[in-house]
Amino acid sequence: MPLSYLEKNKKKNLNDLFKLISFPTVSAKSEHKPDMKSCAGWLKDHLNGIGFKAKVYPTGGHPLVYAEYLVDSSLPTVLYYGHYDVQPPQPLELWKTGPFKPEVRDGYIYARGATDDKGQTWCQIKGLESVIKATGTLPINVKFLIEGEEEVHSANLPQWLKKNKKMLKADIAVVSDTAQFSKTLPAVTFGLRGIASCEVFVYGPNRDIHSGSYGGAVGNPVNILCQMVGQLHDKNNKIAIPGFYQNVKKIDAWEKKQFKKLPYNEAAYKKDIKVNALHGEKGYTTYERTWVRPTLDVNGIKGGYQGEGAKTIIPSMASCKITMRLVPNMTAKEACDKLEKYL
Ligand SMILES: [Zn+2]
Repeated sequence: MPLSYLEKNKKKNLNDLFKLISFPTVSAKSEHKPDMKSCAGWLKDHLNGIGFKAKVYPTGGHPLVYAEYLVDSSLPTVLYYGHYDVQPPQPLELWKTGPFKPEVRDGYIYARGATDDKGQTWCQIKGLESVIKATGTLPINVKFLIEGEEEVHSANLPQWLKKNKKMLKADIAVVSDTAQFSKTLPAVTFGLRGIASCEVFVYGPNRDIHSGSYGGAVGNPVNILCQMVGQLHDKNNKIAIPGFYQNVKKIDAWEKKQFKKLPYNEAAYKKDIKVNALHGEKGYTTYERTWVRPTLDVNGIKGGYQGEGAKTIIPSMASCKITMRLVPNMTAKEACDKLEKYL
């Protein structure tokens, strides 16, 4: 039985998952290039070890791992997608244990990548392995594509996909980069929002200048950037960029109905993230806001003095990073162009 195989190998599988998680595969930082390579190689070896035919493919950026277990061409083929890269773990001081030193606490694994997406990818690999070990084969053909650039917008993936279209041919694609709805309610995710990202820079004087001498006479880039950011949403929390919602696909009635069927506990939702109130686009439910409506968020803001004590300057520049979550019929270029024009 596949389940008893998993039960028997629980410790080994957990240790191997910990090994996978311990590679600091931060795709955004070039200093981790060697770690990306090592992790891709390790994954390839692991997949080869359990009966897959796996290979590391170089791309214009970080390598990806492709593996297949082909049983019979008359059987359906499933293509699994996952990624082994992770988001930067900063701020490090907020971690109880190192981000790449996985630890189990209260039944949860704490480490960067434990979810999103090493954990989920691992579940599928181990699930398939358990069937292979228990029955000697798989009842389907399986292909795995595990990339290393998901967290940096998969810049090199489209090109690679086009080049390897034939090899990737499948009847169904399963994305392992999603979550279970709740501990007791598995769900099929049938769509994910897209993303557009950009960075905004505001330049002022040619150097940081004294606010006692110049304050009042010179525009402060941080003040001005905050004014600009403050105008990105209106009082109903709608994005104020002209034409932003122009092509947005309306929520279908059947979707609305399905969303309503899902259990939703606002008190628990708020408790989990320790907020007193939710904040979002007027006229939509929480799931509609987070699943099918576009959003815009400042992910980071920089400028001026942040060290200990005070420093009386008008900073010479300020910047922020913005991402927008996109829904069907929107494109990243269109969203960024409209934002740029508005700012
Ligand atoms: Zn992910």
